[in-house]
Amino acid sequence: MERLTQEDSLERFNNSMPTPNVVGPAGTFSGFSGPHAPQDSDLYKCVHCGFCLQACPTYLETGLEAESPRGRIALMKGVNEGRLDISPSVVGHWDMCLQCRACELACPSGVEYGKLMEATRSQVKQHTKRPLIERVIRSIGYNTLLASPRKLRLLGNVLKFYRKSGMRTIARSSGILKILPGNAELADKYLPDLSKKFFVAKNQIHPARGIRKAKVAMLAGCVMTLTHAKTLEATVRVLNRNGIEVHISKAQGCCGALNAHSGEVESAIKMAKKNIDSFLSSNPDAIVSASAGCGAAMKGYDELLAGDSKYASRATHVAEITKDIHELLVEYDFETPKNALKVTVTYQDPCHLRNVQRITNAPRTILESIPGLKFVELSEPEVCCGSAGTYSLTEREMSAQLGQRKARNVIASGANIVTTGNPGCAMQLDFALTEVATENSSKRTTAVRYVVDLLDEAYGPD
Ligand code: SF4
Ligand code: SF4
Repeated sequence: MERLTQEDSLERFNNSMPTPNVVGPAGTFSGFSGPHAPQDSDLYKCVHCGFCLQACPTYLETGLEAESPRGRIALMKGVNEGRLDISPSVVGHWDMCLQCRACELACPSGVEYGKLMEATRSQVKQHTKRPLIERVIRSIGYNTLLASPRKLRLLGNVLKFYRKSGMRTIARSSGILKILPGNAELADKYLPDLSKKFFVAKNQIHPARGIRKAKVAMLAGCVMTLTHAKTLEATVRVLNRNGIEVHISKAQGCCGALNAHSGEVESAIKMAKKNIDSFLSSNPDAIVSASAGCGAAMKGYDELLAGDSKYASRATHVAEITKDIHELLVEYDFETPKNALKVTVTYQDPCHLRNVQRITNAPRTILESIPGLKFVELSEPEVCCGSAGTYSLTEREMSAQLGQRKARNVIASGANIVTTGNPGCAMQLDFALTEVATENSSKRTTAVRYVVDLLDEAYGPD
């Protein structure tokens, strides 16, 4: 495809936009209205300078203004001012956004792009009708499965059976996946590996080793309990080893990040309230998350519940005491491990750790503390891996492009292990490394681990 210069891309985009004085017949335009609409004070902070363009993964991949933060904000303004309808093509450009928020870091005007996009997606949900099958899948996913850890585990067990019983082989060879609705073939292809034993929150209290320095409530999460149960167990061990008592309340659930990012604000609010009640019941010094995306979501509970008189102050408290696992370990001056790991390791910054929580040093400090470990940096650490929650299924092509871009950088680093701190990134790296190796007809040589897995290993058994 022809690659435009930044100026040409902008010119073409501007020429395609209705000018401010072209107003359609009354009632033609829906505009933004109803709850959770983007606020003018946020929208008009953008001065269209374009500093964010080169930070945006979808712009880097396409070179198109409409796939840049500035272009998407211009579309929001177009709708807000009644010049544009919330049409499928406009929604398509918003859907292509990963919500990685790299643009926020690059923006000199302080545009809170993540906030704008969440509000815009809520408007899309309110004012448009997605195809029936998509609505059914979204409703089951966001309102039934993510809302109930028990139902999610049930699905996990069904998927394990699907893989192990031979049903998967039959489904693939029969061609039924091609005719089933809802991207069944893609979902099957990118079915992640599931943990042998799921991690279940059941009011466990894991005492600190030695003198207790702190008491924390731990978020188990949703997908991570099914895909990376061993990492959650390692997280508990590492915390205990560092004098931190861990409470894992049964009443907790999904943090609500996937819902909020998809415009399902009401269900995200319900999930946040459930977690606030659950976590604060043990009166913890901190709430810890081993998943970057979940930690970022909980640090945003104050904004999500700002208008709720019953929950606002407790939501602010939760946001203030929530810590990412790496952040917490460094704050509590974690014990330096003694066992050497003779490996070359790189680190993939999860966007919600780097761009949202602004944590980059803590994971590297932990890795560099491990004796024998050689740490190497990745090229383009700021570019999203393309996982972005459900994006890897809904925007498969862009997600795969970005995944392979990241995998190629990982391979070029020469590391035999790539570490991260987020389940979506871990799964995406796993798929992308395999895909790139298959394309190159070579053997995959890089494993994917969490930083906390390596720290646990370097501590050795108690
Ligand atoms: S979002 Fe920020 S960096 Fe991007 S065009 Fe607007 S003001 Fe400039
Ligand atoms: S959030 Fe990420 S993908 Fe979306 S506009 Fe910003 S930089 Fe681009």
